[in-house]
Amino acid sequence: QLATAQPAQEERLVVAVRVRPSLEATERCIEVISSGSLLYDDGGKSRPRKYTYDHVFKENDTQEQVYKTTTAPLVKDVLNGYNAAVFAYGATGSGKTHTMLGPVPRKKPSTADRGPTAVVGYEADVSSQDIGLMVRAIEDIFGHIEAAGPESSTKVSISYLEIYNELIRDLLNPGGPLELREDHRGQRITVAGLSEITTSSRKEVVSLLIKGNKARTMEPTAANQTSSRSHALLSITVQTRTSLGTKQGRLFLTDLAGSERAKKTKNRGKRLQEGAHINRSLLALGNCINALSGGARYVNYRDSKLTRLLKEALSGRCKTVMIAHVAPESKHRDETKNTLVYADRAN
Ligand code: ADP
Ligand code: MG
Repeated sequence: QLATAQPAQEERLVVAVRVRPSLEATERCIEVISSGSLLYDDGGKSRPRKYTYDHVFKENDTQEQVYKTTTAPLVKDVLNGYNAAVFAYGATGSGKTHTMLGPVPRKKPSTADRGPTAVVGYEADVSSQDIGLMVRAIEDIFGHIEAAGPESSTKVSISYLEIYNELIRDLLNPGGPLELREDHRGQRITVAGLSEITTSSRKEVVSLLIKGNKARTMEPTAANQTSSRSHALLSITVQTRTSLGTKQGRLFLTDLAGSERAKKTKNRGKRLQEGAHINRSLLALGNCINALSGGARYVNYRDSKLTRLLKEALSGRCKTVMIAHVAPESKHRDETKNTLVYADRAN
């Protein structure tokens, strides 16, 4: 039994790039040429450059395809008692929240907004084709548990937090900042006072996530009125009691803060500082992932709250998936290039 519980010797790090659909009919800077490669055009200064990743998702690839390719394999590991993490990386507006959560109303939806797949108020259409990875992962976990039959005793719980300016806030029960606690050897890191909700209802999970997402800190910047300056981290814990004891696996799904540079957003004062924090944790994450892909023996998790929190998912035999998001329109060329390079380094 124990021998089959080992994950296969697959890649520990998978890097994917997802190109979101063009939001306007303009010149493009990206052309997807296969399921693993794309061409980037810098505007004619030099010849288009080819980038290769584990997976490249083109504009009309579905949420289901992205889920099946990136996250479904990790869910199997988590049910077997391992930890895993999925990151959505990219500039504001590149499609991170769409991938992780799905279509979410920014404001109270007007009647005109209510299409068949629209998320109305906090009531999400769970069966929507556009529902994102977070909900799909939970549905998949419930599906596996049901398939295992009534004799298996499995508990699923979730927590959802944001890291904003290096401060941790509970998105399921918003309030003051929470502290990170470490045991004396620095092995186990927990967030003191974070709510952990045990759930067995898909619908409940969806409304919790959408409410939580609304509680995220949004600050207007010159780049985008609803630019998200915070990292949102969903953790799904699956605990199974067997005759041999209890096994626990945890899946971390992270909607990272926008990776755009402070310069472009013309940030000043407070927001420039946010930018510095955001870039510091994205840099720290990049360094950890880079070290993992290079098989480094020592990885420094201490540089940011994000990497400290994710240590248990980035170390050991855990698997990590990075989904880097890019916008295809030429006006986003510089951010797109930065993201392709970040993902290329992780690759
Ligand atoms: P981010 O979270 O990176 O800032 P969003 O997920 O909010 O970006 O996406 C920006 C806009 O593009 C939203 O209106 C979103 O609905 C749309 N969008 C992003 N990705 C897709 C996609 N794959 N299919 C359809 N619409 C998308
Ligand atoms: Mg977002």
